[in-house]
Amino acid sequence: MNKPRRDKDPFDLVIFDCDGVLVDSEVISCAAHAETLTRHGYPITSDQVLERFLGVSDREARQTIETELGRQLPDDFESQMKQATLQRYAADLKTIPHISEAIAAIGLPKCVASSGTPEKIRHGLGCAGLYDLLAPHIFSASQVNRGKPAPDLFLFAAGQMLAAPARCLVIEDSLAGIAAAVAAGMPVLGFYGGSHCRPGHGDRLRAAGAAAIFGDMRQLPDLIAQIGRNPGFVAGFSAL
Ligand SMILES: [Mg+2]
Repeated sequence: MNKPRRDKDPFDLVIFDCDGVLVDSEVISCAAHAETLTRHGYPITSDQVLERFLGVSDREARQTIETELGRQLPDDFESQMKQATLQRYAADLKTIPHISEAIAAIGLPKCVASSGTPEKIRHGLGCAGLYDLLAPHIFSASQVNRGKPAPDLFLFAAGQMLAAPARCLVIEDSLAGIAAAVAAGMPVLGFYGGSHCRPGHGDRLRAAGAAAIFGDMRQLPDLIAQIGRNPGFVAGFSAL
């Protein structure tokens, strides 16, 4: 349940990305994506999918691939990929460690803004046991014209939650997501604790514009409070 705004709150809204921030889904999604693309004549590994399309909406990724292929993917490509992903979710999906405790400890309004489809977000959060903690404040790239790295989804989420962009704090794990938050005029923290993150991922998030980076969700409540005590922290891009 979101609480009414208090003047001493550091932010009016915390916006969580879903994949790689709430659920440890990126490795699973990339494997399903690679398997489906390879079957359709675009040979690609799970690692290459991760490298090229992490955090990019399915729609943007499809446009890139079709341009390179010089032909269209089948009309039901998304549903094939979704099917492969959801099957793997049911068997393998786990939460990001300690995310439930972090969500409970952050006494600010919260929402989810994800590049995934509404069904994928719902299914993923449901499989991981997080849906009831965050519903109904869940927004999908399918609700806006342009997915991440465009700012549209974060601005839409802020608007729906009646929060000014500068009073929102975004939690992201992808370069596209950091770019989207920066473009939206929102401070953003970069999370590098997902199992898909390689060494140096945090540094890349910081270079892309993350105000600070962290690798353990147990750090998040204190990190938000720290920013609250020192508003210049974000603007100054201080290191933790
Ligand atoms: Mg993500």
